[in-house]
Amino acid sequence: MSDETSDRLTLLAHLHIQRDFTAERIEYREPAVDVPGRQVDVPKLKRGGVSCIWLSEGAPGEFTVDPTPAFQAVQRPSTALFRRTFFEGASGVQRLLRGFDAVRRLCEGSGDLELVTSTEGVRRAVEAGRIGVLLHTENLLIGEDLAMLRAYHELGLRVTGLVHAAPQRWIDCDSEQRVPSGLTEFGRDVIHELNELGILIDVSHASMSAIDDVLEESSDPIVASHSNPKAISPIQRNLTDEHIRRIADGGGVVGIHCSSAFVDIECQHGRGEGPGISASERDRGMKLLDDVRSGRLDPFAAEAGVRTGEAQPLYQRFPTVGLDALVDVVDHMVNVAGYEHVGIGTDFEFLEDVVEGFAGAHETPQFLAALEARGYSAREVDAIAGENFLRVMAEVID
Ligand SMILES: [Zn+2]
Ligand SMILES: [Zn+2]
Repeated sequence: MSDETSDRLTLLAHLHIQRDFTAERIEYREPAVDVPGRQVDVPKLKRGGVSCIWLSEGAPGEFTVDPTPAFQAVQRPSTALFRRTFFEGASGVQRLLRGFDAVRRLCEGSGDLELVTSTEGVRRAVEAGRIGVLLHTENLLIGEDLAMLRAYHELGLRVTGLVHAAPQRWIDCDSEQRVPSGLTEFGRDVIHELNELGILIDVSHASMSAIDDVLEESSDPIVASHSNPKAISPIQRNLTDEHIRRIADGGGVVGIHCSSAFVDIECQHGRGEGPGISASERDRGMKLLDDVRSGRLDPFAAEAGVRTGEAQPLYQRFPTVGLDALVDVVDHMVNVAGYEHVGIGTDFEFLEDVVEGFAGAHETPQFLAALEARGYSAREVDAIAGENFLRVMAEVID
């Protein structure tokens, strides 16, 4: 890395680290070990020169009962049960608290990670040679009680997604477009309370109508931590240019997603030759969900069981793209929104189809070098690498 870039703050706005689940606990799995093939662990973050991460917990709390591609849900809205969460009401709150507890213990047990709640905290951590970690979730489980938001803020939550692959009662997600499919009245109250508390709102995974509603309700800038343009890859979860523009107009930032399918829809269409989900597996899934719903099975025990058995991939072949295609995503977003509104999300650890050349946190410098090779100035690369997300964090949470 050249001297010119050595002061650069690099922020990955949405990622996970491998963890193990029991019915009682979540434990991060050997985070200090550089395990080949993993996308994120502490040594890889350090090799990648990463200064700050938003470490996401609390999702997925969903159980997939049907692998039907999400875009089919648009064609058949409200007709099929695609995904439902185990964790609702009090168990949802407990699930999120358990995740935050795991992140806190991870940071306390590591000399390299520091839990932070401000941009000042990020800069202090970096000065001390550590990586700033922000609590993050993509499934804001609050048991429909605004007091939980205030409690999470006290625990250090400063940036939050709203909904993951399963809809919540107060907000719809990208994978199942219900009607009406935006925010309910309570959902609007959630947005106002997040504004009041100074918690940055992340709309990745929210349905298009929900994004419209959040843009309308939020008095603060918002972000989409890990979403690409639909114009580049029209998967349902990606953003329209209009949404990218409106997020930018409000002062927000969109972080790029590093799954090849999010960069080129052909990579999704080309997935194949896997076992898929059989009718008997689907029936078993439905029964499990039913058992949790009816109280016959503890949701934490169910999750532990599902997680240990989840090694079965839906597909065996995952086409990928190269770095150039990912830089095309940046180019498009810069053209739509300006370089001040683009950042790096990634969604590392559980991607099956990482972009070749940016296959994990350790390859962040390669991605930044590819931006420079495309003609971005050092100042523009600094902005995209981290300063943009830090700016919006400063505006909303500091
Ligand atoms: Zn996500
Ligand atoms: Zn994620």
